[in-house]
Amino acid sequence: MDDFLSLFGVYDFAVRDALVLVLVSLALYVLLSAGIFAVPQVGLMAIGSYGSAILSVDMGVPVALAVPAAAVIAGAVGVLLAALVARLNGIYLAIASIAFSEVVRVAVLNVPLTGGSQGKVGISREVTDLWICGAVLLATVALVWLRRSRHGLVISAMRVDTLMAQHQGINVVRVRTLLFGLSGLLSGTAGALQAHTAGFIDPGQFNFDLLTKLLAVVVIGGMTFVGGSFVGALVIFGLPFTLEGFAEYQVLVNGLIIVLVVAFAPGGILGVLSRLLARLRRSDAPGEAGSPVVPGPGDAPAGIGPVALDADDVRVTFGGVHALDGVRLTVGQGEVLGVIGPNGSGKTTLINALSGAYTPSSGTGAVDGVPLALLWGRPHLLARAGIARTFQTIRLMDDKSVAANVALGFPPQVPRRSEATRELLVRMGLDQISGVPAGELPYGVRRQVEIARALARNPRVLLLDEPTAGMSPTEREGVFTAVDAARRHGLAVVLVEHDVAMMRRFCDRLMVLDFGRVLAEGSPDDVLDSKEVIDAYIGSGALA
Ligand code: ADP
Ligand code: MG
Repeated sequence: MDDFLSLFGVYDFAVRDALVLVLVSLALYVLLSAGIFAVPQVGLMAIGSYGSAILSVDMGVPVALAVPAAAVIAGAVGVLLAALVARLNGIYLAIASIAFSEVVRVAVLNVPLTGGSQGKVGISREVTDLWICGAVLLATVALVWLRRSRHGLVISAMRVDTLMAQHQGINVVRVRTLLFGLSGLLSGTAGALQAHTAGFIDPGQFNFDLLTKLLAVVVIGGMTFVGGSFVGALVIFGLPFTLEGFAEYQVLVNGLIIVLVVAFAPGGILGVLSRLLARLRRSDAPGEAGSPVVPGPGDAPAGIGPVALDADDVRVTFGGVHALDGVRLTVGQGEVLGVIGPNGSGKTTLINALSGAYTPSSGTGAVDGVPLALLWGRPHLLARAGIARTFQTIRLMDDKSVAANVALGFPPQVPRRSEATRELLVRMGLDQISGVPAGELPYGVRRQVEIARALARNPRVLLLDEPTAGMSPTEREGVFTAVDAARRHGLAVVLVEHDVAMMRRFCDRLMVLDFGRVLAEGSPDDVLDSKEVIDAYIGSGALA
């Protein structure tokens, strides 16, 4: 009963081995699906193997305790590693994580307790097939749950666009650290189970070939799907049995598979399938955009309230260019502050500084009473303090639905998120298209989705960077109506726009930027009719 995998006959060892490696593949999935290109899993697996072996053989710890203990140790090492490589990304992160596995490999060859190059023998083989299948099942259920929860949305957002995710209040450093820990836990479990299945540890197995094999599994299956590890394992571990003579070339073929899949179908088998499925589903779904935004019920003009955001002496330089050169600004609740100025005058930089994408070299002030000095350069903290923004170039999760994109904007503590999302979509006139992937919508509607996402946080301050650029007049009207609704709700809005006529009509106050300085500020009429502003722009045609 305990060895029910024996029903696979002569293949039972191979099946056990494959299941253990599926567990490690899931550990790869955990990081890759969040867009974290780190592959320390082979080293973490070795830590699990040796940890459990040393605990049980040398220290007399019962196997039932040694296995989870070793898994936890590997998880803890994963967390430490995350802290160590916290500043690395992309290729540097990948290299550092491979180096980590190499360090572990060399270390176990030289530490007395591990048996050096001889490896470790005489390990209790108490681990049954039930343990292995149980671990894989548990991991799968947990990861599927994680994927379907809000955390899954957070992880997708980090993969698609880390900066955008930070602006939704997500602490990416913390999420990354936790995922490294989870990846370590899974790798360590796999390593420990393997040691107690085989009864010995061969130190040579934790090498680059193993990593290549695991990568081939997740890449061919689809690295953003939990099921990818299973599909990939079926292909990679199944091929040697179906094709004679294949085993000799396996490493070569694995490498080739990785290159080909990444180049031609980066989503892997499941990616291709899910895209086909989505296309089938779409052909019988309605796809038209909703009506323009209407203000919510009970919105009355509120007038301008107390200061929501004030900043002073904000300076940002880019290698000698003073993009912001001591800017001062104040916005009250229920006020729309328009920011105009020629290209390169610092408008986007101002939005980026106020939202934390850039760290100013100086600047004081507060948002909703929280000093900016504590928040500069930390988008997730500024978002939590009440600042929401849209981007000059739209940043949405294109393959996710409108509803999912907007749901991401809600802070984690919001109860009944799906209902709250639906209400907001109704209010914004987007409910008809809530199931449509954001990437398939026309430009103007995508903008509306971005604004809806920004409003989901129930922010104090809304920063909009050219929200109507490239829109048709009707779409433009829709955005201005949405901004007006936000104003009536008591939000402070900073609006960067080029359409001067619209800004004159619409804004409560205008600020003109020029070479990173405030050239003029005041009521729209005063500003736009001032001689200074006219001299500076009308002559150049910029304010036509
Ligand atoms: P605007 O949005 O008003 O068109 P920006 O804020 O984008 O202007 O740019 C202000 C100035 O800062 C420009 O001179 C621009 O070239 C420079 N700048 C903006 N972002 C960067 C960056 N990331 N790196 C270097 N220079 C930048
Ligand atoms: Mg700009």
